[in-house]
Amino acid sequence: MTTAALIVAAGRGLRAGGEVPKQWQMLGGQSVLARTVAAFYAVKQVDEIVLVLHADDMGLAAGLLGPRVRAITGGATRAASVCNALETVAGSAVNRVLIHDGARPLVSPALIARLISALDHAPAAAPALPVTDALWRGQAGNVAATLPRDGLFRAQTPQAFRLAPILAAHRAHPGGAADDVEVARAAGIEVAIVPGEEANLKLTFPEDFGRAERDLAAQRHAMIDIRTGNGFDVHRFGPGDAVWLCGVAVPFERGLIGHSDADVAMHALTDAIYGALAEGDIGRHFPPSDPQWRGAASAVFLRHAVARVLARGFAVTNADVTMICERPKIGPHAAAMRTELAAIMAISPDRVSVKATTSEQLGFTGREEGIAAMATATLVSL
Ligand code: MG
Repeated sequence: MTTAALIVAAGRGLRAGGEVPKQWQMLGGQSVLARTVAAFYAVKQVDEIVLVLHADDMGLAAGLLGPRVRAITGGATRAASVCNALETVAGSAVNRVLIHDGARPLVSPALIARLISALDHAPAAAPALPVTDALWRGQAGNVAATLPRDGLFRAQTPQAFRLAPILAAHRAHPGGAADDVEVARAAGIEVAIVPGEEANLKLTFPEDFGRAERDLAAQRHAMIDIRTGNGFDVHRFGPGDAVWLCGVAVPFERGLIGHSDADVAMHALTDAIYGALAEGDIGRHFPPSDPQWRGAASAVFLRHAVARVLARGFAVTNADVTMICERPKIGPHAAAMRTELAAIMAISPDRVSVKATTSEQLGFTGREEGIAAMATATLVSL
C-alpha cells in the first residue's frame, strides 16, 4: 500500500484576517502549514505529501519541501485543487490518498493513522464528531425552528479514499461539493465515519487562532513529564589515604568504609535518580549481600541508574550534589567532580552542581566521624 497525503492550502483565507493567508500565519512560532505538514510527516505510513498551493505562494513553501514533500499549483476552486493533486499522483505507486485542509494544523498523527487503517475495511473513511449542541434555524434574528440533531455529525479532514474511485468520482463531479465525501457519495462510494478530534479545528476566523494557541500550549504542557528525586547517604571514615567523592580520588589521611568504593556523594546522586523514577535505591539494584559489588567503582551504579532513565523515556536535565564534612576541602576538586559526574551521565557539566558545607563542628560530620551527602536530580520526559 502506498499512501499520499494531499494537503489543500491554495485558498486566500480572507475571513481569518491577517496580512498573509491563514495557512502562512504563525501558530506557536511555526506557520500553520508547517504544523500541518509535520503531523503527516510523523506518520510512517504516509509515503508522500503533496502540498497544493496558490501560484503566488510557491516561494513560501521552500522550507517545507523534502524527499517526502512536494508542492504543486492549485486550481481556482478547492475541488479543482484536489483534482490537480489526484491527477498528480495518478499513475504512480500511490493507491490511497488522504485529502486534508491545510488550515487544520492540530490534526494528530494518531488520527491520521486511524484513517489509513480504516481503508483496510472500507473504500473511504472520514473523521467527524457528533453534534451535541441544539440546532436552530434562524430568521431575521429570531429562532424560526428547532431541528433534530440525531445522527448529525460535524465533518473534519483528513478524508481518506482509495485513489482510483475518488479520482473517477472527481472527474465525473459537476462541482460545487462542500468536501470530498460529498464527491465520493455522489459516485456511490460508501464512507465510514471515524471518530474525529475536538482539537482538529479548522482555522477560519481570527479567534480560532487564539483557541488553537491555547490547545497547543495545553498539549505541550501535557506532554512534558518532569520528575525530581532526592538521595541521602553517609559513610564512616576508616583507614586509608584517600576518599572517593563524585568519582574523584581525593587524597586524605583516612578513607571511607563501604561495600563498594564508598563514594558517598555518587551514591546520594544515584539514589536521587532512582527516586525520581520511583525505582527504589542502590541497595535494591545492587544488593550488598552480592559479593560481585565488593570494591566496585560507584560509576557502575550511576551508569545503571542513567540507563534506567533512558529506558523509561526520560533524560537527566540536572543534578545537584552537596557533601557535608569538615574535611577534606571539596572546593579545589569540585570542577573535576562535575566533569566526572557529567561524563558518566552523558550530560554537559553546566547541568551538574557539586558543592559542600561543614556542619559547624556539630554532630557526626562535625566530629569528623564520616561524610554525609545529599543530592537532587531532575528528569524530563523525551
Ligand atoms: Mg552508600
